[in-house]
Amino acid sequence: MEEKELIAEAASIIGRSRRLVAFSGAGVSEESGIPTFRDPGGLWDRFDPMELGGGDIFTSIFSGAGIPQAAVDFITEMMTVLERAQPNPGHYALGELEQLGILKSVVTQNIDNLHREGGNTRVIEVHGNLFRLACMACGNKVLLGREELFAMGRELAELMAKGDLEGVIKLASRCPACGGACRPDVVGFGEPVQDMGLAMAEARDCDALLILGTSGMVYPAAYIPEHAKKTGAKLVEINATGCYFPDLVDVGIVGKTGEILPPIVERVKDIKSFNIF
Ligand code: NAD
Repeated sequence: MEEKELIAEAASIIGRSRRLVAFSGAGVSEESGIPTFRDPGGLWDRFDPMELGGGDIFTSIFSGAGIPQAAVDFITEMMTVLERAQPNPGHYALGELEQLGILKSVVTQNIDNLHREGGNTRVIEVHGNLFRLACMACGNKVLLGREELFAMGRELAELMAKGDLEGVIKLASRCPACGGACRPDVVGFGEPVQDMGLAMAEARDCDALLILGTSGMVYPAAYIPEHAKKTGAKLVEINATGCYFPDLVDVGIVGKTGEILPPIVERVKDIKSFNIF
């Protein structure tokens, strides 16, 4: 099928849906300038996760392992790209689908907050959110505004570059409940995912699932499409490099989410305005 026909097919599934859910990965934010993990030139091409404390830089640093140069480079790069990143047309298209009363929730593996900034209000972040801190002493969660996060990020990168571990600990010690040291509330390798029960319930209850910009390599999040399929949902996948759930999807579109989602939403609006369903 040609792209135009696939877009029409996807819009038809979305237009009929009563409980649409989106499941997203790093690819959705690629057009916002945030590198993915596994694409050529992606983060894991350039950084060894094991050198980054198994991906969990902060627990590793605070446990006295010191500050590896790779961690300084990683934090500096991530803070620079995340500070510049704005929602792209793919994020806004999902925001519009929610405003139209069609999209019920977004289950995302991303930690960049861009789905919320793009207009989605029910966002289940199974790998956490960088704009939130978690106290390592009492578990209290602290929300950060954009400016606060990036001011802190810049200071953190400078302290890490100087190897100033004491300064890093002082900067992190900001829990309003107990004064304890906080780390970003994101999920590192080997750590339990967040709100997975909620995410699975969304998958179970949806009648259509959009699978967007994910390689489906990270479990347990990658079970979500299978779970939705088992309970009878229609599946639409959009990915820039291919189809990663070939045995499950009803419609697979190879293309960028920022380019494919907006015309799908326009088509859905046409369908709704003509009350075709
Ligand atoms: P991944 O890097 O394994 O896969 C990304 C997928 O997106 C690839 O299949 C790629 O082909 C596709 N892609 C790239 N650009 C695209 C575009 N413009 N439109 C559509 N598809 C595109 O990412 P993953 O499956 O999400 O798993 C990696 C883990 O990395 C996740 O757990 C996530 O937490 C984390 N991560 C998050 C961010 C972020 O918050 N933005 C960035 C990098 C990694």
